Amino acid sequence: MAEEYDLVILGGGTGGYVAAIRASQLGLKTAVVEKKKLGGTCLHAGCIPSKALLRSAEVYAQTKKSEEFGVVTSDVKLDFLKVQERKQKIIDQLHGGVQHLMKQGKIDVFHGTGRILGPSIFSPMPGTISVEFENGDENAMLIPKNVIVATGSRPRSLPGLEIDGTLVMTSDEALQLEELPKSIIIVGGGVIGIEWASMLSDFGVEVTVLEYADRILPTEDKEISKEMQRLMKKHGVKVVTGAKVLPETLVKSDVVTIKAEHKGVEKSFTAEKMLVSVGRQANVEGIGIENTDIVVDKGFILTNDYFQTKESHIYAIGDVIGGLQLAHVASHEGIVAVEHIAGENPSPIDYVSISKCVYSSPEVASVGYTEEQAKEKGFEIKTGKFSFRAIGKALVYGESDGFVKIIANKENDDILGVHMIGPHVTDMISEAGLALVLDATPWEIGHTIHPHPSLSEAIGEAALAVDGKAIHS
Ligand code: FAD
Repeated sequence: MAEEYDLVILGGGTGGYVAAIRASQLGLKTAVVEKKKLGGTCLHAGCIPSKALLRSAEVYAQTKKSEEFGVVTSDVKLDFLKVQERKQKIIDQLHGGVQHLMKQGKIDVFHGTGRILGPSIFSPMPGTISVEFENGDENAMLIPKNVIVATGSRPRSLPGLEIDGTLVMTSDEALQLEELPKSIIIVGGGVIGIEWASMLSDFGVEVTVLEYADRILPTEDKEISKEMQRLMKKHGVKVVTGAKVLPETLVKSDVVTIKAEHKGVEKSFTAEKMLVSVGRQANVEGIGIENTDIVVDKGFILTNDYFQTKESHIYAIGDVIGGLQLAHVASHEGIVAVEHIAGENPSPIDYVSISKCVYSSPEVASVGYTEEQAKEKGFEIKTGKFSFRAIGKALVYGESDGFVKIIANKENDDILGVHMIGPHVTDMISEAGLALVLDATPWEIGHTIHPHPSLSEAIGEAALAVDGKAIHS
């Protein structure tokens, strides 16, 4: 028998499950349809597992150099199976937490594949949802007043570069490795590629990054990319930018060899494994889009500012709509969509003020415009930069590479962008995010007294540096 709901959400990833909780808070009768596991990519194949591995890599690398801190260790060994066990324990704990939140919110969870069927007989409702179960149980039929499509994304590859899951992997398979390769080629020097490069090199793997663009982290401020490239090289990572990988040259034996065109010359690269990290493609297939008027453009579902698709009762959020494919973006889009459904009049998301982080060593974090973007937008700018080398706490930590850069509008002093590379910057970027939301000026940040010794002093000093008033430079 079909059950009626105020809201049915297709996909229980970060976007979907957070939307469900907000819907329950607003009194909407809600169901989530999830074909794998609640928590989605972020929890099971993205943010959390990758950060757990990165943390183990960091501890390993730091322990190896602990003598610098006067701590003498001997025979430091890596037990990679334990690393993986620890990762899984964290995932399981958080997965239990999400399941608990669903129960607490009285949200019905259907563990199956959801599909939008034809237009509903209860017009203008958006259409029945069928749920197919893997165990062969009869399909469930759900009749929603509103639908949110939050089916996420999956790794992409280059045309002709086939992923076999063992020699040529995406992050999905790499996260499940039982032992580390001695060497790896990483195709793609974006966020995921650089996190893996940093992690694997900290684990002692020989890493080569092949990036098509003329710099790694090409969406970050140019100075950040340059500093990251310098630091990756310092850590022993081989970085080749402007490298056009030629999939047809792939040769697999007990190692992988591939050629890339670099400065007009074909160069050959060989390693035990290859990791392809060239972006993610939206999961728009098999969910019944053809039964609706929803528009898919360049592989992503098109929505308005409130995440309504062309079918006003069907919303779409998260990775499936493209843009910034980040967990915190997906969840906030979910909240806005639900509040719109509930008639709460939410404000559209200002994507410029969303913080973006790279959890490599050193970390990168940014918010607002890069220097190039600010100039392209026609702003007359002034910048302030402050190095972690002059920050006592960074020296205490033993991590003094990197800097904070603040870009402000010369005309009215508004902060336009903040870019950081260095220790723990992913935990510090929120101060800059708040500054952007509050339209703060460098003067206001500079006159916020930052505690000493703290890494955040670099933000205060960079703000003062915008008007040439930094103290320790
Ligand atoms: P997903 O999390 O992908 O969830 C979609 C869900 O829908 C999945 O559970 C899927 O099984 C389900 N589904 C699909 N089709 C159907 C169907 N027909 N019926 C039922 N269920 C269906 N972001 C960050 O912000 N910080 C990070 O540090 C970070 N690190 C990352 C590291 C890696 C290696 C990767 C791959 C991604 C990372 N991301 C990170 C990105 C982040 O994981 C995604 O942006 C986020 O998961 C998107 O959430 P979502 O809800 O849109 O989709």
